[in-house]
Amino acid sequence: MKKSIIALLLGLNILFGHVSFADDNFFTPQNANKNTQLTVFYMNDMHGELTEFGKVYSAKKIFDEKNSKTNTLVSASGDMYIGRNQKLNFQITNLLNKLNLDVLTFGNHEFDSNSKILSEYIKDANFKTVITNAEIPEENPLYKDIKSDKIVTSYVIERNGEKFGILGAVPTGVDLGLFDQNYPVTAYNPKETVKALNSEIAKLEKQKINKIIFVSHLGYFGEGGDLNIAKQTAGIDIILGGHTHLEINGVQKKNISKTRMANLVYSKRKEPVIIVQTSGINKQVGYLDVLFDRKGKLIEKNIKNSIIPVEGFESDKDIDKEAAKVLGKNKVLATVEKPYIPADTYEERNYENPTANLLTDAVAYKLRHSKMQVVLVQSPSVRGGLKDKLTTYQLKYKMLPFNHKFYYIELSEKDFVELLNQEALTSITTNNSQMLQCRGMHYTVDRTIKNPKSADAVCIKDIVIFNKKGNYVINPLNPDENKIVRCAVSNYLFTDKRTKGILERGKNKKLVGEEHKLVIKYLKRHKTINAQREGRIIVIEK
Ligand SMILES: [Zn+2]
Repeated sequence: MKKSIIALLLGLNILFGHVSFADDNFFTPQNANKNTQLTVFYMNDMHGELTEFGKVYSAKKIFDEKNSKTNTLVSASGDMYIGRNQKLNFQITNLLNKLNLDVLTFGNHEFDSNSKILSEYIKDANFKTVITNAEIPEENPLYKDIKSDKIVTSYVIERNGEKFGILGAVPTGVDLGLFDQNYPVTAYNPKETVKALNSEIAKLEKQKINKIIFVSHLGYFGEGGDLNIAKQTAGIDIILGGHTHLEINGVQKKNISKTRMANLVYSKRKEPVIIVQTSGINKQVGYLDVLFDRKGKLIEKNIKNSIIPVEGFESDKDIDKEAAKVLGKNKVLATVEKPYIPADTYEERNYENPTANLLTDAVAYKLRHSKMQVVLVQSPSVRGGLKDKLTTYQLKYKMLPFNHKFYYIELSEKDFVELLNQEALTSITTNNSQMLQCRGMHYTVDRTIKNPKSADAVCIKDIVIFNKKGNYVINPLNPDENKIVRCAVSNYLFTDKRTKGILERGKNKKLVGEEHKLVIKYLKRHKTINAQREGRIIVIEK
C-alpha cells in the first residue's frame, strides 16, 4: 500500500516536473490561534537581475495561494534597480508592479543614475517608497514624489482591520549624490538614523500602531547596521534587510553558520526583533511568518523564517517574455574549460579574480595594436565566477551589470602607484575592497603591513610591467614622476572620490569602449575560457 502511494507520488512528480518540488511546503503559514498574523514575501538586492524574475513570480503565485487568509506584505529592501540602462530599469518597475509589491526602500544602486531619472523610474510604481533616514532637498527631483506621497517617511498598511506601520532606510556611509552634485540626497549618519526611526515610531504609536516593520538597506554589520539598529531602537518588530547580501535562514540568537547568522535580538525595550535578508540577485526569496500578541509584540516561539531558492520554480512564460523585451537574446558566447567558482564576494574582491581577467583581457585585445601597457578595473565591477558556458545573459546581467566604459589614459609612474596602492589599501582597511584587477602586469598586495590607515601606508610591492621589449619593475617606494604608464581603466575610477583626483592628472584620455561590447567581440575570437589564476596578483596574508 505504502509503496504504491510513493510510486504514485513519483509518477506525479515526473508529470508535473519540478513544480511539485517547490509547491510542497514552502509558504505554508502556521496556525494563527487567534493571534495577529503577518506573512511576508521579502526580497532584496535584485540588482536589475531579470533573467530569474519568471521564477520569482511563480514563487509569489504560490505564496498568494497559500497565504490568501493571512495578512500579507510584499517588500523589497533596495538595490532592485541598477546601472544606467533605462529600458531595463523601467521594466523593473513594471515587473515589481506585477508582483504586487507593497513597499520599497532605495539602496545605493537606485542612485546609479541621477535623482531625476530615478524619479521617472518610480513614476508608474504601484508601490510606496519608504525612506525614514534621508534629507531630500526641495530642488531635488525626488522632492515632488514626497509631495505626492510616492515617497514617505512611514507608511501604514491595513489588512483585515489590523494596521501595520512600515519604516525604511537608505544606506548610510555611501555617497548617494554622486550624480546630483547641487542637490544630493543625503542619508543620515547612524546616530541620526536611530533618532529618526525612534521619532517616526513614536508618531505611529500615537496612532495606536504597534506592529512595526522596518525595510532597511543599511546592511547587517557595523554601527549603522541592522543588528545594532535593532538594539538601539524601541518598537521595531521586524527588519527586512539588504545591502550585505547575507542569506540569513531560520531564527537564531547566535551565529550558527554563515547562512544562519544571529537574527533574533532585543530592542531597547527588551522586546524581540527579527532580522532577515536574502543573498540577492534573485537567487532566493524570503518567507517570514510571525504572530503578534495583543500588545503588538512578536511571539518568539512563533517566528518562522525561511530562505527559498528560486531554482526549483518553473519560470512564468509571460513574465519571461516581458523580461526578454529588455534582456535581448540569450546565446552561448564561450565554453569555460577550467571553472572559477569563488566561495563568496570576499574572495572575488580580495584576490586575483579570473572573471575580471576575462574583462581586462578583452580590453587589451581591443587595444592590441596600440601602445597600451596595463588594464585596470576595480574588483566590485565584476561579479560571480565562470563555469560551463558563458551566455549573453550571464555576461550582461550577472558578470558585468554596470557595463562601464573603459578609457585609455597616460599616468605618471607616481600616479599609477598611488592609484594601485589606494585601492589595494581598501582591502585591508575596509570591508568593501576596491582592489584593482589587472592585465599586462603583476603585483603583490601585502596585507601584513603595519599602520595601513596611516597617510603614507604602502601595501603594494613587486610591481612588474610586461613590455614587448622586456619586463620592467616599478619601485612603489620611489616611483619616477617623469616616466609614463599607458593604461586602460574603467570610467568608475574617474568618478570615485578616492581615485578621481589621481586620474584627473592623466593625459591623452580616449574612449576605448563599453564592457559588454568589448567582451563579446573578444569572445568571437576566443571560444574557450581558462578561468584560472595566473599570478597577476599575489596576496601576502597574516
Ligand atoms: Zn547596496
